[in-house]
Amino acid sequence: MQTNFSLAQLADPHVAESEKILRKCVHCGFCTATCPTYVTLGNELDSPRGRIYLIKDMLENGRPADKEIVTHIDRCLSCLACMTTCPSGVNYMHLVDHARAHIEETYKRPLLDRLTRAMLAFVLPYPSRFRAALKLARLGQPLAGLFEKIPALKPMGAMLKLAPVSVPAASPMASPGIHAGQGTRKGRVAILTGCAQSVLDPGINDTTIALLTRLGVEVVVPEGEGCCGALVHHMGREEAALASARRNVDAWTRAIDQGALDAIVITASGCGTTIKDYGFMLRLDPAYAEKAARVAALAKEITEYLVGIDLPEPVRKPGTIVAYHSACSMQHGQKITRQPKELLAKAGFVVREPREGHLCCGSAGTYNILQSEISAQLRDRKVRNIEATDAEIVATGNIGCITQIASAAKLPVVHTIKLLDWAYGGPKPEGVRDNRAVVAAE
Ligand code: SF4
Ligand code: SF4
Repeated sequence: MQTNFSLAQLADPHVAESEKILRKCVHCGFCTATCPTYVTLGNELDSPRGRIYLIKDMLENGRPADKEIVTHIDRCLSCLACMTTCPSGVNYMHLVDHARAHIEETYKRPLLDRLTRAMLAFVLPYPSRFRAALKLARLGQPLAGLFEKIPALKPMGAMLKLAPVSVPAASPMASPGIHAGQGTRKGRVAILTGCAQSVLDPGINDTTIALLTRLGVEVVVPEGEGCCGALVHHMGREEAALASARRNVDAWTRAIDQGALDAIVITASGCGTTIKDYGFMLRLDPAYAEKAARVAALAKEITEYLVGIDLPEPVRKPGTIVAYHSACSMQHGQKITRQPKELLAKAGFVVREPREGHLCCGSAGTYNILQSEISAQLRDRKVRNIEATDAEIVATGNIGCITQIASAAKLPVVHTIKLLDWAYGGPKPEGVRDNRAVVAAE
């Protein structure tokens, strides 16, 4: 694509980066076919190619964002299906990140929208605030239907609906410290405790630590780590996202200084995509660029790490039929497609893949709160495809997808690591049937 930026504009490294990305796009439109918002809404401006044109026009003309561009960029899920499809290697992720930061800087949203976004940024990345907010949300749940009828209060209604009926207690295993590996030492890793996942299901990281230590891997929970920054990053709050990235880079650098790490293990794929991008996000900060690149290179999604170590034979082969849902941040953001399925199959599960696996479930960070109507359409489509597999359970590697799919599916939705842990000697995850036990009893 031809671009017309002035030399003065290109002196801004963010603009220069976006110009490089724009020049790669050949307008072929292949990406439209796999874009969930185009598939749902049928509007070119809600396709990757349409958004790329809108962003190009805004940046080239040095214009502040307007209502039209904000509408179409806000509808983008940042699922990155377009990047998987694009034959020209267009880095839509960095382009839309830049556009979102530009919108945040130049556009004044309506008051309620500003308040909602400020509240989400204040609460979600902080586990203690999020836990308190979920408890409060339970009290407000009877009002969810009413809020959903008032357009400006829709996000509030969606938030109340998504709040779980009970909030688990914080896990002591998430406190900073070292969990020693058992038997022959196979490795040493740090684990990201994160934010929303540690509140909604602390069992995911507890299970990961239990499995890894049983396999002989020492697990460090570093002092000072926190939210990866993805939630605010996707809202265009660049400084807040970079502050989170710097804090984590510092925490993991200290952990590395205390003893080499083989990996920084991440159990929420949404966080993994962002942490693997820390090198790019902090490239312009001379104090952090190198450290951030080192940390990003160590980041590994848990199944990515597990396929690289010598796994023993599973203790049990449950035979349960599992529909594997690949989160967008897993398959498009990190290009991890085969590892979770291979591990599940090796552990004795029967893995089925739902149709339209490339399409987002509509969770996408805060998307199911801020764009609840499109999100619900995508969720229902995803659940129909999952239920058509006749599986007994859904496995996935991202807490956002677990919450989203579980809000409409009839079958249990669990994190992949809980099924693997069960096969390798851990407890049976809640709601899962042990088919071997059933066969034995018959
Ligand atoms: S990130 Fe997803 S929703 Fe956004 S343009 Fe690309 S495919 Fe469409
Ligand atoms: S597939 Fe790639 S090159 Fe083609 S229009 Fe989409 S972003 Fe541009």
